[in-house]
Amino acid sequence: MSDQRHSPLEGVTVIDHPLIRVKLTIVRDRATSSEEFRRELRELATLMTFEVVRDFQTVERVVQTPLAPYSGAALARPVIIAPILRAGLSFVDGMLQVLSNASVGHIGMYRNEKTHRPESYYFKLPSHLASAEVLVVDPMLATGWSATGAITQLKQSGARYLRYVCLVSCPAGLEQLRGAHPDVPIFTAAIDPELNADAYIVPGLGDAGDRYFGTYSFPPS
Ligand code: URA
Repeated sequence: MSDQRHSPLEGVTVIDHPLIRVKLTIVRDRATSSEEFRRELRELATLMTFEVVRDFQTVERVVQTPLAPYSGAALARPVIIAPILRAGLSFVDGMLQVLSNASVGHIGMYRNEKTHRPESYYFKLPSHLASAEVLVVDPMLATGWSATGAITQLKQSGARYLRYVCLVSCPAGLEQLRGAHPDVPIFTAAIDPELNADAYIVPGLGDAGDRYFGTYSFPPS
């Protein structure tokens, strides 16, 4: 069996699994419909979550089976899924499939057209932020500036156990985020070679939010 985790960069896990490779190819395909894109992205989020939470701590939980007591496990900390709006929303349902008790916080960032840096317009996280495992999600890690800003804001608000989850990343975004927050592990399904002049990942999959929400101005053909 091949190794399912490898780290080209310290703190970065590339989740490699045949189902993830197959589904990622489908979502990259410009001919994939919005309907199929949504379904595959949801399933990718579920599959990635298994690896993202692999080393979550558990505590003992004793239950009674119909026959006897059983000493099992419960997650040691509550989980918060924190999508960066809007594309991050595409990962929420898939993650909730296997983290059904998780809370969902929302982080809204927009790009300041003068500074080209992200600015916060919305930040709503549950009050147990400091004690929770926080999974910050955005399918595309492009320049890394939104991710950096979101994590800075989460830390300022008390978050301590943070992980960053994206589907496709690139060296520039990984270096930016690792440089700013070296304590935050990053999980990605692919590291693509480059960013173009419009800050799109190449080959990437296009605009993840537009494809998920069906808001592109012309259907991809
Ligand atoms: N956001 C996207 O949706 N796609 C990219 O390639 C980069 C940022």
